Amino acid sequence: MEELIAIIGAGIGGLTLAARLEREKIPYRVYEKAPVLGEVGAGLGLWSNAVLCLEKVGVDGDFWSRSGCEVFRAEMANAEGKILSSCDVRPVAEKVGASSFVVHRADLHGAIYGQINPESVVTGKKLSGMEEKENGVLLRFSDGSTASASMVVGADGLRSQVRAQTFGDEPPRYSGQTCYRGIARLNIEERHALREIQGRGLRAAVIPLDDERVYWWTTENVTEGGRREPRKEKDYLLSNFADWAFGVPEAIEATDAEAILRNDLYDRPPLPTWSKGRVTLLGDAAHPTTPNLGQGACMAIEDGFVLGGLLGEKFDAEAFSEYESLRKDRCEAIVKESRRFGWIGGWENPAAVKIREFLLATTPETFVRKSMEKHIAPQGG
Ligand SMILES: Cc1cc2nc3c(=O)[nH]c(=O)nc-3n(C[C@H](O)[C@H](O)[C@H](O)COP(=O)(O)OP(=O)(O)OC[C@H]3O[C@@H](n4cnc5c(N)ncnc54)[C@H](O)[C@@H]3O)c2cc1C
Repeated sequence: MEELIAIIGAGIGGLTLAARLEREKIPYRVYEKAPVLGEVGAGLGLWSNAVLCLEKVGVDGDFWSRSGCEVFRAEMANAEGKILSSCDVRPVAEKVGASSFVVHRADLHGAIYGQINPESVVTGKKLSGMEEKENGVLLRFSDGSTASASMVVGADGLRSQVRAQTFGDEPPRYSGQTCYRGIARLNIEERHALREIQGRGLRAAVIPLDDERVYWWTTENVTEGGRREPRKEKDYLLSNFADWAFGVPEAIEATDAEAILRNDLYDRPPLPTWSKGRVTLLGDAAHPTTPNLGQGACMAIEDGFVLGGLLGEKFDAEAFSEYESLRKDRCEAIVKESRRFGWIGGWENPAAVKIREFLLATTPETFVRKSMEKHIAPQGG
């Protein structure tokens, strides 16, 4: 058995763990099913908690000033153009010691990859089976090859094979909502506000990435599955959001129809434990969440950072139980709150929408900041 940690999945979480192990000088290898490394997707909001972890593994200020748009305010608004609440997040950033940013996923993925030895990542390796042996784990890949490792971390996302092999193959839990996303060439003057716009059963956001590009997303309540051909998808979105404020229809219009992404939104109820023997889970493999709080990737990053630090202290499966005791409650609370936030955001009844708007408009900023602080406060390790 090779004396190393096998990380299954080179997503944002798996690579963050690799970057921390690199710093801790712990041997590891990352196995990724995709033939070429990279990230599909649009923008990503990264709160201070995740930015701090990434800075500590070497994704430094240069990256953030070059590739990120700093978030000053978190805002809630309605489709007619009224800002209902605006919370300055800079005092929280100051306390934490790192700002929050919106970045392009591919840029972030590349920046984390830049912190590890490229020879430690093997692509085109789809894990298909695992067998725990006396002194390690035997990994089987769908191309017929095998590898061995002392311990295994499943960082293989929402439909994790490591999770299925270790804890059973339950399907994820559909949230009732789907999300469309895109990047548009559009210059909007107002920067630095992460603003969610809510209507009746529909939500949207348009967030600047830099001088030329915005990242936008929309959600709606629909049954699971299905996708029209791209041109019709774009026309459908344009008709749904035609009269929305804050540049929503303009951003959709300025997006290449073929490049619009659609993802049904899922999470999973908590597992009793994330680890069994020499195997543990991280990120979406352990605790997938709906993206309503913008904390899914942030949690995967924190997981990787904390677990890597613990494995640096003790290179055995005991590190897994410490990792769980540090991370599990926090991640599960986020999954639960994110689901609740999405449910409220999806209300369609006009009276309920009015009540939601009233509550948003009358909640004091200090209260909003306090509850955000709970998520944005970093976790040690
Ligand atoms: C619409 C949407 C918007 C979001 N917005 C935000 C946001 O603004 N902020 C935020 O923090 N989070 C956001 N998230 C959540 C975020 O995308 C995820 O939480 C994050 O990507 C999880 O990272 P991960 O590394 O755990 O998994 P993933 O990113 O899913 O990576 C898993 C990796 O494992 C590989 N893999 C899978 N199976 C195998 C296998 N059998 N063998 C080998 N490799 C395998 C995959 O190819 C992939 O590279 C959003 C999610 C969605 C759907």
